[in-house]
Amino acid sequence: MDEKTAPKLPEPFVREMEALLTEYYGAEDFQNFLASYGEEPRAGLRLNRRKLPGLCLPEELAGEAGLGLRKIPWADNGYYCAREGKPARHPYYYAGLYYIQEPSAMIPASILPVRPGERVLDLCAAPGGKATELGARLAGRGVLYANDISHSRAKALLKNLEMAGIPNLFVTSEDPQKLLLEFPEQFDQVLIDAPCSGEGMFRRDPSLIRAFQERGPEEYVPVQRGLLEAGAGMLAPGGFLVYSTCTFSVEENEGNILAFLARHPEFEAAAPENLRDVREAAGLREGFGIPQAVRVWPHGAEGEGHFAVLLHKRGQRAGQSLPGTGAGDGAAKRQGRSRDRDWRQSLPAGAADFFRNVTADFGEGTLLSLREQLYLLPEGEKAHRNIRYVRTGLLLGSLSKSGVFEPSQALAMALAEEEYPSGVTIPAGDVRAVKYLKGETLELDGLAARGADGWTLVSIGGFPVGWGKRKGNTLKNKYYPGWRWQ
Ligand code: SAM
Repeated sequence: MDEKTAPKLPEPFVREMEALLTEYYGAEDFQNFLASYGEEPRAGLRLNRRKLPGLCLPEELAGEAGLGLRKIPWADNGYYCAREGKPARHPYYYAGLYYIQEPSAMIPASILPVRPGERVLDLCAAPGGKATELGARLAGRGVLYANDISHSRAKALLKNLEMAGIPNLFVTSEDPQKLLLEFPEQFDQVLIDAPCSGEGMFRRDPSLIRAFQERGPEEYVPVQRGLLEAGAGMLAPGGFLVYSTCTFSVEENEGNILAFLARHPEFEAAAPENLRDVREAAGLREGFGIPQAVRVWPHGAEGEGHFAVLLHKRGQRAGQSLPGTGAGDGAAKRQGRSRDRDWRQSLPAGAADFFRNVTADFGEGTLLSLREQLYLLPEGEKAHRNIRYVRTGLLLGSLSKSGVFEPSQALAMALAEEEYPSGVTIPAGDVRAVKYLKGETLELDGLAARGADGWTLVSIGGFPVGWGKRKGNTLKNKYYPGWRWQ
């Protein structure tokens, strides 16, 4: 990008930035800000810690895929990648090993101190850039509620969460005020990645300039205030809440937060622990009047414009437990529920035969059977009658009236290769990897196959991508048609 291709910024926005940056950082800083619009926006990807718990980059990604990966200083699993690298055109993307995400957008989920076993709410979650990270941090314990008011966007959110292999989830499409009625003080952690005027994304997506001209910051402030009130009401005492936007607007950021803190003395701004040692070196700036808040300016750090602040709700968490010991148990007790019976013992016959071979530990959830679909609700959780769900728990599969069980795509993604005895592994560089993802029948010559004929877990480079039905050397493709490689 150069001066000729740089986006034409709206005049009122430029004047406002000039006043703000000149007052706080000087006239030269504003000139540097303007100059940054002649530079290329940064692209990034975030490793999925659920599938790559050691956060080791698979060799194929670092090498032959030519993604030009370089560490992002503020996210332990984040990498800058070359825009021309096409990370979405790699079989490992389909295996859920990473999520393509703008580098600054990795900050909000990274500063929310989520621990396995907690109850976590992402209030404006679609398409899932932050929810996939929050879910991965839970490590299969506790629950992630991922909500988005837009039903179509919530469906995209579900796909991304399932692709990431997150089993302990609910996806809802609800008005946050309605969620508040059902879930007062029910969550240990809340993320509000609010809809905003998008000023920080003009370089990356110039089409947002027109949207900004039609709907400016003043239109978003009341919506954001409502979201803050709802999110804060659903947070349990002692819990943490992150509020984030991708705008520079002071009204939408510090304005909202300072007004919120004045209304809610039980909340205080907190300094994100994980950024303590990197803030300065990475060029992350403070919020105006809120030093704990994080601002990304495109001329200060390598990322697009962003704002994020961590808030702490004073008080003691009910059933609070030591890190990693399962605050979910506390959550269940808080709601007066007892431990669930082993769900495997409640499986109907056809499904029970299948699950006898599945060695994955999905905890002590509850089975839910709905229109021939079997779901596993996370431990201690139930589906609420008044809430519009897009997904209730892990979809295990379908069970026909005649008792025939078919495992789901979501189940394949939630398993590790060794957790189902019949499988075939396709190397990431083998042409059959893409053929499988396109839905083609495969001949398995030379591939490592294990177990008996029948349902077969198909992996690429050791990471499950879906199911097939094997008969001798031939694999009938059962990859979910809606997810096929195009
Ligand atoms: N967190 C998402 C991610 O990382 O992929 C991006 C969220 S985007 C900035 C804001 C989202 O808020 C949009 O998906 C929009 O549909 C949703 N939204 C707008 N108004 C909302 C409301 N009142 N309640 C819940 N979600 C809302």
